[in-house]
Amino acid sequence: MSNCAIVGINWGDEGKGRMVDLLTEKYDIVVRFQGGGNAGHTVINEYGKFALHLLPSGIFRQGVVNVLGNGVALDPENLWKEIEETTKKGVIITSGNLKISDRASLLLPWHRDMDALEEERLANKKYGSTKQGIAPFYSDKYQKKTIMAGELFYSNELREHLKDLLEWKNLTLTKVYNARPYTMRIIDEWLERYCERIKPYICDTGKYLKTAQREGKNILFEAQLGALRDLDYGIYPYTTSSNTTAAYVSIGSGLPSTKINDIVGVVKAYSTCVGEGPFVAEIFDKEAEALRNAGVEFGAKTGRARRVGAIDLVATRYGVDVQSATEIALTKLDVLSYLDKIPVCTKYIINGKETDEFPFPAMLKYAKPKIEYVDGWKCDISSIKKWEDLPKEAKNYILIIEKAIRCPITYISVGPERNSIIIRK
Ligand code: GDP
Repeated sequence: MSNCAIVGINWGDEGKGRMVDLLTEKYDIVVRFQGGGNAGHTVINEYGKFALHLLPSGIFRQGVVNVLGNGVALDPENLWKEIEETTKKGVIITSGNLKISDRASLLLPWHRDMDALEEERLANKKYGSTKQGIAPFYSDKYQKKTIMAGELFYSNELREHLKDLLEWKNLTLTKVYNARPYTMRIIDEWLERYCERIKPYICDTGKYLKTAQREGKNILFEAQLGALRDLDYGIYPYTTSSNTTAAYVSIGSGLPSTKINDIVGVVKAYSTCVGEGPFVAEIFDKEAEALRNAGVEFGAKTGRARRVGAIDLVATRYGVDVQSATEIALTKLDVLSYLDKIPVCTKYIINGKETDEFPFPAMLKYAKPKIEYVDGWKCDISSIKKWEDLPKEAKNYILIIEKAIRCPITYISVGPERNSIIIRK
């Protein structure tokens, strides 16, 4: 038995979905353990191109069982729509290959409203939320003001519980935000249209995973977003509202006894960041536009242009530490092929002093990047399959990163397709 976690080292969008899609070949089960539908994993394979938001990226592999653990923000509406869209393209999804934890809490219809209303109130101080209701969902979960998926099987108790929550939430909606209140009619419609449809997939996934572990099955844990968005270790308050780190696997998956043998940290060959907040190695104007277009850096969920920058060795080393990564997948190296000189952020300068240390979040806005340039390779590397065949400048770029982040780079991705990969181990 061998368990593996695939996690993001940076701000998200590193290409985790593509790595999970590649590595699921060796695994029996793929588990999502945190987050919700607020980010997207793009996967390209024989069925086509998909932007997965909640479904684990193992959904395309025959024989792989996909689990949504208790740590995820389970949005019945978005999940059902995603199941419909995915099955339309020929992917088979049944209660045999998709299992939802009965202990996952439900993202309720008003969570999306709350998200949008709060961003509107914040105006130019907004966090840059994707408005999928994730922050209100997690705050309500910790206030014990939401519903567990398993409650859908107990309709009388469920309606009573929902009535109480609705009464409470309407106070905030109407009195704080001056917004429209919810009625049980709207909730009943939501139960009927979405919750009833995802019900067949809900079960005791903790029990399922424990049995699988006993049988020696290989389990892959798939994270959403990256270390710098982790609620506790990231760039608070510009983080997400869940823990994106591998350490959260045992809680969010429903398998407290899990042992992770391998933590694959995914690093993009340059930096990108969606939304507001400090982003030290950011580049602007024409230089940024060229990189954004070369890497097609537009959000999978929102379509919004991502901020782009030089690879940030200070933040990446911190991310590797926080994730306790045992190996690294470096993605999108091919995107840099157009550059004569590649910028690398090697240090931060804060108050005139150079530092290797990732600072406390409140200090980040004072950090300036120290940029050094390395030679580019200026040729198409997207069909290269072996380390030896990479141009020496590309090898040099990879080795500089590897040395700085103190973790072996074992996968180098040179294209979005499943087989555009160099395995170096
Ligand atoms: P995730 O959320 O970490 O899975 O990342 P995203 O799906 O948001 O972003 C990764 C994007 O880059 C997707 O569109 C992938 O198809 C694409 N991608 C992944 N790896 C590579 C690569 O090595 N080269 C290129 N050109 N594109 C890649």
